[in-house]
Amino acid sequence: MRNLKNKRVLITGGTRGIGAATAKRFIEEGSRVAVLGRDRVALEEIKKELPQLEAAFKADVAIVEDVNRVFTQLDQMWQGLDVLINNAGISIRHSFMDITLEEWQEIMNINLTGLFYVAKQAAQRMLAAEQGGVILNISSTSGFTGYHYYADYNASKAGVIELSRSMALELAPRIRVVPVCPGYVLTPMQEAEYTPEMMRECASKIPLGRMARPEEMASVLAFLASDDASYITGSIFIADGGETAGALTSQR
Ligand code: NDP
Repeated sequence: MRNLKNKRVLITGGTRGIGAATAKRFIEEGSRVAVLGRDRVALEEIKKELPQLEAAFKADVAIVEDVNRVFTQLDQMWQGLDVLINNAGISIRHSFMDITLEEWQEIMNINLTGLFYVAKQAAQRMLAAEQGGVILNISSTSGFTGYHYYADYNASKAGVIELSRSMALELAPRIRVVPVCPGYVLTPMQEAEYTPEMMRECASKIPLGRMARPEEMASVLAFLASDDASYITGSIFIADGGETAGALTSQR
């Protein structure tokens, strides 16, 4: 991809799944990469797996003090930021009638409010820099279609899309902002909530006949962050193997 070399890239939720694959890909592109996550053991593991990582911060995106600390450390380390991959997120499989207020708030605090606060910190740095920057906010196909058993998650991801489009308007032309919507991706998040049988059922309804590999989302993110995507901002970028091209594949 064009012009990712030496770019300073922060990936939230970079310890496993899509985030970890993306960290690896940006390192391969010659970028300077930092990740953050909550779990100390996972952070140690990713540092071993990717020794070129410049930092692996223990931080929760839903805790303002954690985010402020990370950006203070990044200011000292990099004096700026070129690319934010706003990827940290959680899901809970439960029916609408079972969602507690605490669960609703936890999902919103991480997937939407945390993403907003990290994006704002990044945008401040990018606006102050001559070359601007790129913010890729990870939403989901469930941000624009209904799915059973994830009402809170779906609402948070719909919020990410509209937040991103509004950011793209206000931050142009200095910062490109893209809401990215993966379909089903085989990651620990999926493995925790889907049985092999449910996964087979999902795959059978996806035109490409399978879930995505995390590396395939990393490719999309590398493209969108690069100068090859220099005219893309504010549009919903979907990478779902054709899942939402026709009938919905919502799982009961
Ligand atoms: P994983 O559960 O595999 O990884 C999630 C990552 O986010 C981990 O590194 C996790 O680390 C981190 N994380 C979670 N909560 C927080 C938090 N509060 N603060 C900091 N880090 C956090 O998920 P995926 O890789 O599957 O998903 C990545 C993103 O892609 C999510 O936003 C998800 O909603 C989205 N997505 C995933 C799809 C899929 O099919 N897998 C489909 C569409 C969208 P830790 O828990 O240690 O903090």
